[in-house]
Amino acid sequence: MTKMNGDRAAWISIEQARTNNLQEVSVRVPKHQVTAFTGVSGSGKSSLVFGTIAAEATRLIAESYPLFVRNRLPSRGRADVDRIDGLMFTTVVDQRPFTGNARSTVGTASDIAPLLRMLFSRIGEPCAGYSPAYSFNDPSGMCPRCEGLGTVDDIDLDQLLDTRLSLNQGAIRFPAFEPGTYRWSRMVHSGLADPDRPLSELPDDVLNSLLYAEDLPLASPDPKYPKSSNFDGVIPRFRNSYLRKTPSRLTDEERAGLARIVTRQPCPECHGARVNQAARSSLIDGRSIADWSALPVSELRDLVHGVHDSRVNPVLTAITERLRALDAVGLGYLTLDRHSTTLSGGEAQRVKIVRHLGSALSDVCYIFDEPSVGLHPHDVHRLLTLLADLRDAHNTVLVVEHHPAVIAAADHVIDLGPGAGTNGGQIQFEGTPDELAATDTATGRMLHEQVRLNLNPRTPKKSVTVEHATAHNLHDITVDIPLEVLTVVTGVAGSGKSTLAAQILPAQHPQFVVIGQEPLRGGNRSTPATVLGIADPIRREFARANRMAPSWFSPNARGACPVCKGKGLITTDLAFLDDVSTPCEACGGTRFNPQALSAQFKGHSIAEVLAMNASQSLDLFRSVRDITTSLEWLEDLGLGYLSIGQATNTLSGGERQRLLLAKRLSDTPEPSRLRLVLDEPTAGLHGSDTDRLLRLFDRLVDEGATITVIEHNQRVIAHADYIIDIGPGAGELGGSVVYHGPPQGLLTARDSITGKWLLTPRP
Ligand code: ADP
Ligand code: ADP
Ligand code: ZN
Ligand code: ZN
Repeated sequence: MTKMNGDRAAWISIEQARTNNLQEVSVRVPKHQVTAFTGVSGSGKSSLVFGTIAAEATRLIAESYPLFVRNRLPSRGRADVDRIDGLMFTTVVDQRPFTGNARSTVGTASDIAPLLRMLFSRIGEPCAGYSPAYSFNDPSGMCPRCEGLGTVDDIDLDQLLDTRLSLNQGAIRFPAFEPGTYRWSRMVHSGLADPDRPLSELPDDVLNSLLYAEDLPLASPDPKYPKSSNFDGVIPRFRNSYLRKTPSRLTDEERAGLARIVTRQPCPECHGARVNQAARSSLIDGRSIADWSALPVSELRDLVHGVHDSRVNPVLTAITERLRALDAVGLGYLTLDRHSTTLSGGEAQRVKIVRHLGSALSDVCYIFDEPSVGLHPHDVHRLLTLLADLRDAHNTVLVVEHHPAVIAAADHVIDLGPGAGTNGGQIQFEGTPDELAATDTATGRMLHEQVRLNLNPRTPKKSVTVEHATAHNLHDITVDIPLEVLTVVTGVAGSGKSTLAAQILPAQHPQFVVIGQEPLRGGNRSTPATVLGIADPIRREFARANRMAPSWFSPNARGACPVCKGKGLITTDLAFLDDVSTPCEACGGTRFNPQALSAQFKGHSIAEVLAMNASQSLDLFRSVRDITTSLEWLEDLGLGYLSIGQATNTLSGGERQRLLLAKRLSDTPEPSRLRLVLDEPTAGLHGSDTDRLLRLFDRLVDEGATITVIEHNQRVIAHADYIIDIGPGAGELGGSVVYHGPPQGLLTARDSITGKWLLTPRP
């Protein structure tokens, strides 16, 4: 039984937790302190913090709501635990990137936008009205031409139509209008045009109706369609379905088609300002709200600082506090009008931190998932201040972390281990960081180990040149990228590392392959097994052993549970709310039907095999080459603990990246020819796993591969053969090459913030 007794207890105490790999874990987490959860990857940190503490807190809160609300809360699955005492209101601040909504900006996501509107509605001259009149999300403030988006989409007719072809030959070059589709048959049966004549031979007025008609009553409606449904031309149809809103599900073909056909331009009326004329001409200090939003946060701070007006002091204070917080988490280079969807996972998490800091709640339990990801040591230092501020505002702070500085700055540490998966799941240590550093645990050693500089770097013999790179903030960079060595691209967040290494480098030299951290396609149907292409060989093994067709062992074919159709979940579509999913009771979430589940391979059902982690399944399929190659790469990349049937949308960004790297390595006949760009591949890795990853990089480079990584991790930087340091600052203050050469030279490079921090174990 679990109790939510808020302030009274000094601890959140957990008794006998068994979630995932936890082995009857009993532990107490101090309230109103910062507690770091540490341990090697796969040791059970997330299972304890997210899977047990956050899951129970969410469930308890949910139970206090009426059923209607309860059904609409995200479900995190159920914690397996005997008892938790002292739980409090809990908020998880995760690294999921912002998705989808074109109306979400850094300003709206950090809750600064409403404050700016309030400011302009009080002291902007001339005043446009009250707050909503300055909002691009409100009809009274939005630019009427672009409806507040700042851009307008145009359809490139030359790309959409092949006028040499007839309708029947597929003149409309977009999947949803191809011959055989519903939209195609509406056109053909409209009676407007001869479907066998090329578009170029149709009379102008006919082509016009076919393309632009809106709600046109048809003279001789086709008997197949009800009289009442009038005809819309291709363009209004296309606009409605693909441009007015962002469709939630697009096929790859549709995506490619849209990229070809739709051209996006700044709105000709507001020039990207998003708001209407009245809001644009209302000024403070000679600038409109759109001008304010286009300034980097660090500059906006100065501007706000210069406003003196006693009528708005509280608003100015609130704005200043949040801008200071954005700056403090290393995001001073962002502008408030930046689309949230263009932020990386780490940046998104830090924007969420700022939103929570401003919400003035106290006695809340905040849980962070590796908040140091994407941060330069220089900025980690400032992040620590923010976490301490949250604590001092009488909150409880839990962080899952690998960064030595974050661990060292915590009040309390709980270390899990000793290993991953079934070899982990136990409490190794609880106490202060200093006490942990004195233990002989993997984490303890990592805390006091000095970073060792690579004094014998490989000398680059060949290179490619990136020429005149100017994208985003890059100041016309021309730089050599060495081949067949390990190059680390460094610099503070926002300095231009990804723009250079992950965008321009592969654009100029397509042999470079970028492996990033973006979500994988296929949602909850994609698993490590499907990504690596071992699902099929596993089915074949089951088929052979049981004399059944392989399709019996696919949840998307004959093996599918008839109730959930192989999804493992029952999803209720609530139209305008988020869908609600619950595990399917018929198959227990395994996705398979009873007949599929009754078949066995070496004593295990298909569901049991898919629940195994990579290392266990490697043992089981030892003799099957098709399966072992990619599983061995997984182990080498420190992912042996992942279960092969786990949905990839439950993986962290770092895990996804390493999974894709394993796929790339096992798909390539000659890994030694690869030229890879990786974006912070150590995200989510414990120091000891980082060393293993570095050994793998060394092996690949020795065989001839080129590995270029964007990293903040001091161990990786110190281990590099070659460094390219971008900066010196972020945004406009960055974008230049500060240093390039072996790591040792970085220490004395003028202007290099990275060099200053390189050998400092605890900022
Ligand atoms: P950490 O956070 O320390 O990296 P996790 O708590 O994520 O470790 O994982 C601990 C163990 O539990 C691993 O063996 C992992 O494969 C397993 N595990 C985690 N999440 C799931 C899940 N959703 N389904 C099945 N196994 C899981
Ligand atoms: P880093 O990888 O060093 O953190 P980035 O290359 O991501 O830096 O960013 C460099 C600069 O370019 C920053 O000022 C950032 O705000 C800007 N920038 C990056 N991506 C975008 C984008 N999609 N749209 C607009 N500006 C961007
Ligand atoms: Zn506009
Ligand atoms: Zn089912």
